[in-house]
Amino acid sequence: MSDMQPGIDLATRTEALESLLVERGLADAKTVETFIGIYETQVGPMNGAKVVAKAWTDPEYKERLLSDGTAAVAELGFKGPQGEHIVVLENTATEHNVVVCTLCSCYPWPLLGLPPSWYKDSAYRSRVVKEPRAVLAEWGTELGPDVAVKVHDSSSEVRYFILPERPAGTESLSEEELAGLVTRDAMVGVTKVAS
Ligand code: FE
Repeated sequence: MSDMQPGIDLATRTEALESLLVERGLADAKTVETFIGIYETQVGPMNGAKVVAKAWTDPEYKERLLSDGTAAVAELGFKGPQGEHIVVLENTATEHNVVVCTLCSCYPWPLLGLPPSWYKDSAYRSRVVKEPRAVLAEWGTELGPDVAVKVHDSSSEVRYFILPERPAGTESLSEEELAGLVTRDAMVGVTKVAS
């Protein structure tokens, strides 16, 4: 599979560029450079972390986020390619959700940026479906038998995003401080957020 080859990031970028160029009817090199720059510096897991921190501190926002993810993240200005049809799943003490794209690498770009190489790796894509608990354990996420594990397959129709469980002992933290705790991997569901 081409997933393991170092050229994959280039392929992903090219796909992103094509979407934008087609959408806007533009095709000059400067636009291309600008778009790459945006995904390198302005769009990444820090966006998703803001969504999570807001949901942790604003119950009404959390409700909107879980009922219509696309609209709720757009409230914070996060939209664009691969930001359509976002479905948010909440991880709790009794239910752990994890996301994969078994076909390719569908991923909520406006919230997490471009996917990491492990997400595109064929081993992750096949194993997390067959043996999710074993894969999660390799990430250091040990889940007891009382925790239900659910694997969700992202596609062009639905792009899943995980609302991780808020860690204990973070009651006094501000929304901004909370956002600082949230990691990309927790928003894909392979890890939890540590306090
Ligand atoms: Fe995909």
